[in-house]
Amino acid sequence: MQEIVDSIYHEMRARTERGKVANYIPQLACVDPNQFALTVVTQDGQVFNAGCAETLFSIQSISKVFTLTIALGKMGDTLWTRVGREPSGDPFNSIVQLEHEGGIPRNPFINAGAIAVADAVMGHNAPKETLAEILHFVRFVANDDSISIDEKVAQSEMKTGSRNASLAHFMASFKRLDNPVDSVLGTYFHHCSISMSTEQLAKAGMFLVSNGTNHCTGVRVVPEHRARRINSLMLMCGHYDGSGEFAYRVGLPGKSGVGGGILAIAPGKASIAVWSPGLDKIGNSKLGTEALEMLVQRTGWSIFGN
Ligand code: GLU
Repeated sequence: MQEIVDSIYHEMRARTERGKVANYIPQLACVDPNQFALTVVTQDGQVFNAGCAETLFSIQSISKVFTLTIALGKMGDTLWTRVGREPSGDPFNSIVQLEHEGGIPRNPFINAGAIAVADAVMGHNAPKETLAEILHFVRFVANDDSISIDEKVAQSEMKTGSRNASLAHFMASFKRLDNPVDSVLGTYFHHCSISMSTEQLAKAGMFLVSNGTNHCTGVRVVPEHRARRINSLMLMCGHYDGSGEFAYRVGLPGKSGVGGGILAIAPGKASIAVWSPGLDKIGNSKLGTEALEMLVQRTGWSIFGN
């Protein structure tokens, strides 16, 4: 496995076409696009790293996997009265479909859906308490208390987040949010600003590898059926309007973020995190996707194979 991971790293280092770093969040535009990291944690807990696997980056939308898990833990299937579970086929920040569906977002991973999930996680708590809860959960699943929120990134997005603010106000106009729009947005921007390394992120995904239990620590995080369902949502909706392409090329449940990270789950095999800040046109990590495609070809881990 270390040989495979190293060889992918070397191939990616040699690439000159690395995609474009997200610039609509000014703080993300400052990130050096030449960085690359890949971590594979196998089901038995062995860690295989290549590149800057300890460098922290903004996990952005990958955090939506954790908030979805928390929301399902709190309200179970009632969550699905607030957000759907169909792929959207629209860009991550699209507003169009919200009007046709009464302010109910298509799925929990597009921005509107994640804002609805943030509102659900809040219950009637303040953003501060909610963020403490989210951070506690992420630290718990990653087994790492050092994980924190990058306040600069959160502030940066808050200043330029007009599109997300309009999504939230539009949902509020249909009475779809329980909390004030500003509190929900503050919670959303901050959970997107959690910083992690690929090693921390791959470890945090371990509960989705083994039917809801972290195989190494023996701790059950979610029931079996829930782990399966979160994986299926990641497969269908985890890369926005590039989800079909990702399923075709990689064939694993995965969630991307505009910080250039991707968390991918090979059920029964491994949790994988990759980071390369340059994005493709849709907003998914360009080299991250290529690296995962290569990894799956070399390991045979696609869920569609045998
Ligand atoms: N915080 C980002 C936004 O709302 C997340 C988008 C992403 O990572 O895809 O625009």
